[in-house]
Amino acid sequence: MTCSGVWALIVAAGEGRRFREAFAGGAAPPRKLFVKLDGVPILLRALRAVASCPQIERTVVAAAACDVESVEALIAPERAALRVEKVVVGGRRRQDSVSMALRVVPEDVELVVVHDGARPLVRPEVFGRVIEAACRTGAACAALPCYETLKRVEGAPEEAVIARETLDRSKIWAAQTPQAFRAQTLRELLEEAEHSGIDVTDEAALFDRKGLPVELVPGERTNVKITTPEDLALAEAICGVVQRYEPDMRVGMGFDIHRLVPGRRLILAGEDIPSELGAEGHSDADVAAHAAIDAILGAAALGDIGRLFPDSDPAYAGANSLELLAETRRRLKQAGFEPLSLDVTIFISRPRIAERAEVMAANLARALGLERGRVGVKAKSANGIGPVGEGLAVAAQACALVRATMPRPLK
Ligand code: MG
Repeated sequence: MTCSGVWALIVAAGEGRRFREAFAGGAAPPRKLFVKLDGVPILLRALRAVASCPQIERTVVAAAACDVESVEALIAPERAALRVEKVVVGGRRRQDSVSMALRVVPEDVELVVVHDGARPLVRPEVFGRVIEAACRTGAACAALPCYETLKRVEGAPEEAVIARETLDRSKIWAAQTPQAFRAQTLRELLEEAEHSGIDVTDEAALFDRKGLPVELVPGERTNVKITTPEDLALAEAICGVVQRYEPDMRVGMGFDIHRLVPGRRLILAGEDIPSELGAEGHSDADVAAHAAIDAILGAAALGDIGRLFPDSDPAYAGANSLELLAETRRRLKQAGFEPLSLDVTIFISRPRIAERAEVMAANLARALGLERGRVGVKAKSANGIGPVGEGLAVAAQACALVRATMPRPLK
């Protein structure tokens, strides 16, 4: 069974009070959702997880007013791949934030999936499960049975907490997110809660308190909600220990050749090489950069340099090809990929360029935002063979490795 449209609402407007309190005494306590988990900000991880679910068409993020700008900046480099429609200012309570985000969702979208911005380790399958169940029943929630023995208590942690009763845990499950709902029903229930002053800690509660069924589907122990620094440590451990994702790597190749003619400069990987002959072409005719661009585009199946930067376009007359390479990297990022490494071989009979290889590699690495050690440049003279060997042309070959920023879940 499928639904005719699914959007995600990411709740990221909380104060992160319990997280900040743990940093009491520090100069500026960190904003929780921007804290890095295994090198990636918590919120960005959560958004990538959402985007890795193919059924989810668009995402709306509800952030605290003071965070909207930072959230925009965080997602900007990969906004298209994350399919973020809008970042809205959330409300004081969680349900207010969901209401604000829901206003952006078009009327004809059948289902919305609500997910906590502070649950970065959710796996794509969990989204699939709640969506499938909500299509059937109207509301579904990722949840887990409780294995701990549960106590009803009195008192507060600052004083003394006393157990008054042991609960029957067989009847108690812990709700996580994602949760998925028929959008129209959620709209009506939120409105009703607003009018009758009802506070809930999750949206599923709006359904169950009305007697509407909420189907619980298996959540995951590793789908932790990062509330305290201790949770962050736990999440770090999960990232480190559990190889839950298969890196999605792609390789691409590129080739370019230009005629060598008098009266042109010879630019190779951004270096201006003193030479009697230069490369003929519309841009700066940098074969090394052009081969690199094609290798990167090819790896992500994004077409080729001619399509991206047509030589019929006067904008690219005399263009600096390193800038085109940097632009290629931006396009790559928008498509959900990042470069990992690049290897370039330049074919030219004269002049000898081997001693410039280091600088050329550094130029290419800079344009791609890569560490120096991830780019190699080699030079070949072609041993007098063919147009390159005879000094009529300069050519380059490149091989690039790129990785999808959203890894593929392990089956
Ligand atoms: Mg070219």
